[in-house]
Amino acid sequence: MEEHILIAVAWPYANANIHVGNLTGSYLPADICARYHRLRGRKVMMVSGSDAHGTPITVKADAQSTSPLEIYEQYHESFVALFLKLGLNYNIFTSTHTSNHFDIAQKVFTALKENGYLYTTTEKQWYSSAQKRFLPDRYVEGTCYICGNPDARSDQCERCGQMLEAELLQNPRSKVDGSTPELKETEHFYLDLSKLQEEIVDFLKTRESYWRPNVMRQSLGQILTDGLRGRPITRDLDWGIPVPVDGWDGKCLYVWFEAVIGYLSGVVEWSKLHNQSGAWRHWWTGDKVRSFYFIGKDNIPFHAVIWPAELIGMGDAFDKAMGSPEPKPLVLPYDVPANEFMNLEGRKISGSANWAVWGLDFLERYDPDPLRYYLVTAMPENRDSDWDWEEFFQRNNNELVATWGNLANRVLSFTYKHWEGVIPDPGDLREADLALLETIKAGFDSVGDKLEKVQLRAALAEVMTLASEVNKYLDVHAPWFEIKTDKAEAAKSVYTALQAIDWLKLMFAPFLPHTSQALHDCLANPQPIFGYGYTKSVEDDLGKHLVLEYCDDNAMTSVGQDLWSPVLLPINKTFNQPVPLFKKLEHAIVEDERSRLGK
Ligand SMILES: [Zn+2]
Repeated sequence: MEEHILIAVAWPYANANIHVGNLTGSYLPADICARYHRLRGRKVMMVSGSDAHGTPITVKADAQSTSPLEIYEQYHESFVALFLKLGLNYNIFTSTHTSNHFDIAQKVFTALKENGYLYTTTEKQWYSSAQKRFLPDRYVEGTCYICGNPDARSDQCERCGQMLEAELLQNPRSKVDGSTPELKETEHFYLDLSKLQEEIVDFLKTRESYWRPNVMRQSLGQILTDGLRGRPITRDLDWGIPVPVDGWDGKCLYVWFEAVIGYLSGVVEWSKLHNQSGAWRHWWTGDKVRSFYFIGKDNIPFHAVIWPAELIGMGDAFDKAMGSPEPKPLVLPYDVPANEFMNLEGRKISGSANWAVWGLDFLERYDPDPLRYYLVTAMPENRDSDWDWEEFFQRNNNELVATWGNLANRVLSFTYKHWEGVIPDPGDLREADLALLETIKAGFDSVGDKLEKVQLRAALAEVMTLASEVNKYLDVHAPWFEIKTDKAEAAKSVYTALQAIDWLKLMFAPFLPHTSQALHDCLANPQPIFGYGYTKSVEDDLGKHLVLEYCDDNAMTSVGQDLWSPVLLPINKTFNQPVPLFKKLEHAIVEDERSRLGK
């Protein structure tokens, strides 16, 4: 059976637009890896969706006098529009507000409960008798019992920075209507993480040799220092997934507990939408599965500890509840390549201060591949990084345009003109020609090795270095000079450079899919390299939701063959008139763009 790759991508919270820091943190690296594995002929499932529940969305809805549903739908649509424009090829991008997700999340809850990993505790929470409901932490303000700040939130004080015990807050008031709430007892379910600690530690130890140090520190390191304690997985809120237990009306599953279940429910939904109801098991119960979780560093504990805890705790009970005749446990994360944060011009990105470069706004003025390129060169893989407009400008003009784009365009235009749009027969290649081709060919191994390890910055830098090698070769074996005295010699140089460019096109393809495809079209290949994204509206008991999907029926990657290899360029093949791959930018954009920030 072929290898199945699950590309699990962070679920954007549907209450804010997506900026470049979010893109480079998780969504873009996920797409690059998905494309790479598709080129290797593996069965890829890239899954994510909008995180639709939780109090930040209800707070925003209250502030705008609208419903949480409308807030979520508005952002969900803008996420889908951005992903289509940037070429992020999700097999399914759905949402947590679907009947399917409700059902799967409730099944996970029930499996954990049946296996003895849930318990209940009664605690005191602020209750509004005027509204007849419990008030979530963010809805209650009062005086901080530590520093006396009169405007502290019940769970945290902005002035002294301390986490607060909600019930100790002084002079509490409801943010909704200013009324005084009272403390009332309420019962909640907890996930018994301490009971699962030993198995989580054993799991993390098997990943110690290759996970990023920061991820290991925030998972295994943290557990070995502090140990694990139970965490509440339900709360008093009506916007969310109901607790599937009789008598628990008015309570729902905590968003941190149910959103991660989306990686599982999303694949189940994909299987249903494609009329292959059991297909999700290929990525969740198979023997040859690797699952990669692309997230930002703020999400490490949820993906490296809590989600594995939910998976381990379920055992085979979930698969059994799904009707499997031979129930199996679910596959644990293979890698969690969490990124650090990207700053902007030396300052922390802040959406509320508009100190951000927004994805959709950027793509109004620039093409997607220059964004993808710059975001990889500045990807915060091991430490925080910085978006700098001057550097974006320099890298676009000096690397994308000068090193790669001009190389491809110059060689193709020259060949098109002097050999009437036909790839010339080079005869026997010279030693220097063979040496260059060996160098480029070796890139399939070395770049591929880095992509397997999710070292994307290093992988892309290496492809760009290989492109420079072709430029160096052309400095010595310049066909534009050779042709004046010996067209046969020029044909050798042209053929060698074209072959190198065709291989580089494939190595660049996961990073720069749009321009690699343009080059692929120029070389008159009838099949596109990758498939394409499209949307559809799905109706269920909760209403309609928009889903982003992926179709590669006619693409090269649909065949399941390993395409990551040096295929020979056919001699005497006709190709199309080349067009420039990238646009040179004016330096004035740097000041223009900087002047927009913070306004
Ligand atoms: Zn305080």
